[in-house]
Amino acid sequence: MKLSKRLQSLGESATLKMAAKSREMRAQGIDVISFSLGEPDFDTPDFIKDAAKKAIDDGYTYYPPVNGFGDLRQAICAKLKRDNQLHYEPEQIVVSTGAKQSLANIVFALINEGDEVVIPAPYWVTYPEQVELAGGVVKTISTSVETDYKFTAQQLDDALTQNTKLLIYSSPSNPSGSSFTKEELQDIAKVVEKYPNLIVISDEMYELILFEGERASLAQFKAIQEQVVIVNGVSKGFAMTGWRIGYIAAPLWLAKACSKFQGQITSGANSIAQRASITALEADPIKVQPMVDIFKSRRDLIISLLQDIPNLKTSMPSGAFYVLPDVSAYFGKSYNGTTISNSEDFTMFVLQEGQVALVDGAAFGVPNCVRISYANSEHQIKEGMKRFKEALAKLA
Ligand code: PLP
Repeated sequence: MKLSKRLQSLGESATLKMAAKSREMRAQGIDVISFSLGEPDFDTPDFIKDAAKKAIDDGYTYYPPVNGFGDLRQAICAKLKRDNQLHYEPEQIVVSTGAKQSLANIVFALINEGDEVVIPAPYWVTYPEQVELAGGVVKTISTSVETDYKFTAQQLDDALTQNTKLLIYSSPSNPSGSSFTKEELQDIAKVVEKYPNLIVISDEMYELILFEGERASLAQFKAIQEQVVIVNGVSKGFAMTGWRIGYIAAPLWLAKACSKFQGQITSGANSIAQRASITALEADPIKVQPMVDIFKSRRDLIISLLQDIPNLKTSMPSGAFYVLPDVSAYFGKSYNGTTISNSEDFTMFVLQEGQVALVDGAAFGVPNCVRISYANSEHQIKEGMKRFKEALAKLA
C-alpha cells in the first residue's frame, strides 16, 4: 500500500459523499432535491465583489503576508470590538484559506500523538478528522434533541481531565443550529477555568446567522480569555464560501504558532479575497440582514413542515441553516424487503424513494439523526418536505 497510514485512516466527508450521489442521480435525469448543502444559496453581495475587482486593478497580485494583510487584521480587530466587545491586537489575528485551515493550523500547532481532545456531539465533521490526523485522541460528549443538542457545564466537567489539551465546539452549531446563551457560556467558562492547561476553540462561523438571543462568545469571560481561540470567517455570514477566507483571534503565542505552521503549508491566503474581506467586515452587519431574515422564515417553514411528519423529534434551531431531526423511531421499519437499520439506511431510502438528499447524522456523531440544510428556496423546501413525508409513509 503506497498511501500513508494517516491518509488511510481519514474519513471521507459525508456531506461531499451525499452531494456526489445526488449529482450522479441528477446526471441520470432524476429530479433530486438537495438538503445537503453547507453553504448559503445566495451570491456574494455586489459591494464585496466590487472590492475584489478593485483589488485586481490596484495590483494586489503579489504574495500577501503569511498571517494576512495588516489592514485586514485591523478590520478584524475592529469587528471584534464592534460586534463582540472584545479587544485584540492585529498580531493576535491570523487570516487563513478558510476557517477550515484556521482549525487545522490550531490542531497541528497544539496536538501531539496521544493528546486528548474533547469534542461534544453533534460536531462539525471536520473536527475529529483533523484531530485524528494530528495523532490526537477524541473523547466525545453525548447530547440529544431533548436538550437542544447542547452540552452542559456538568457534562463538560465530567469529560475534562487536567491532561485534556483541547475542546472544540461551534455556536451557532453546524449541524444542530443550536447556540449557547451568555448564561450557559458563563457556566462553561467556570468549568474551563478549573483546567488551566486546556485550550478551547470557539467556532463562531455562523455568528451572523442568528435568529434569537444575543450574540455571545466564550472569549468574553476575562478569566479564561487566554485559553480561548475564536475561529470565524466570511464564508457563511457574507455568502463568500468560494473566496476561502477564515481567521482566528488567539493568544499571541498561539497566533504566532499558527502563522509558523501556515507559512510552511499554504502561505498567506488569496490576496484579492483578503481585500474583499476588508470591505465585508467593515460593512454594517445590517447589510446581510435580508439574507438572515430569509433563513429565519425558511427555518419557520421547515420546522412547521417537519412537525407534520409523524415520529420525528426536532429541536428549534436558533441559528445557522440546519435542522437535525432525530429519526430513530423509523429504525427497524421496512419497505419492499429493505429494513432501515441506521441513519445511513434512512438517508439512502429517502434519496431513492423520495429523491430527497439529506446527510446521515453518524458523521456528526449523532447516529439517530439526519441533517437537513434549508439553504434552499421556499418552493424546494415545500416540495422536498412533501416528498420526505410521502417516502416515510411507505415504511411499516
Ligand atoms: N466551521 C463550521 C462550523 C463550518 O460549518 C464550516 C463550514 O462548513 C467551517 C468552519 C469552515 O468554513 P470555511 O472553511 O468555508 O471558512
